Amino acid sequence: MSNTSRVAIALGSNLGDREAHLAFAVRRLSAAFTGLHVSSSYETVPVGASGPQPLFLNAAAVGETTMTAAQTLEYLLNTEQQRGRERSRPGAARTLDLDLVLFGDAVIGEPSLTVPHPRFRDRLFVLEPLAEIAPDLRDPVTGATVHQLLARLQAAPPPRHR
Ligand code: AMP
Repeated sequence: MSNTSRVAIALGSNLGDREAHLAFAVRRLSAAFTGLHVSSSYETVPVGASGPQPLFLNAAAVGETTMTAAQTLEYLLNTEQQRGRERSRPGAARTLDLDLVLFGDAVIGEPSLTVPHPRFRDRLFVLEPLAEIAPDLRDPVTGATVHQLLARLQAAPPPRHR
């Protein structure tokens, strides 16, 4: 019996050929997830950056997988590495950043794997593209849909937008 989970992933790039990095990620995601839907790309101002940084290109993807959450994250980190991502310091510019935002109804609180992603409810650059393709996807922690989380954030942005 296969156990399928619906997964939401946030994509970002602000270094080099951003469109090519995102296109590479989408190709890799299509190979691993069934029924993949990808949002359009959004150009966004970096938040929480340690200094001046180029604009990001962000997108979101949803699809189904029979992998576990840990296997899914490993696949994402491996995909980042294939695009030459260097982890110089937190907040540094990056060729490709892939975050596991939602993994079905899973709630996992380990440092190496936190799902739902701890900051996704505060991030317009995650919620906007995700609402375009999966507005009814539900956050298992708050019970709110992506559409509701986006509406809340637009109505009352956090004091220091992260
Ligand atoms: P970053 O360099 O900011 O992309 O962070 C990547 C690190 O965060 C990796 O070592 C992951 O193990 C860890 N991590 C924990 N939860 C998540 C998540 N939901 N999505 C992506 N990375 C995560």
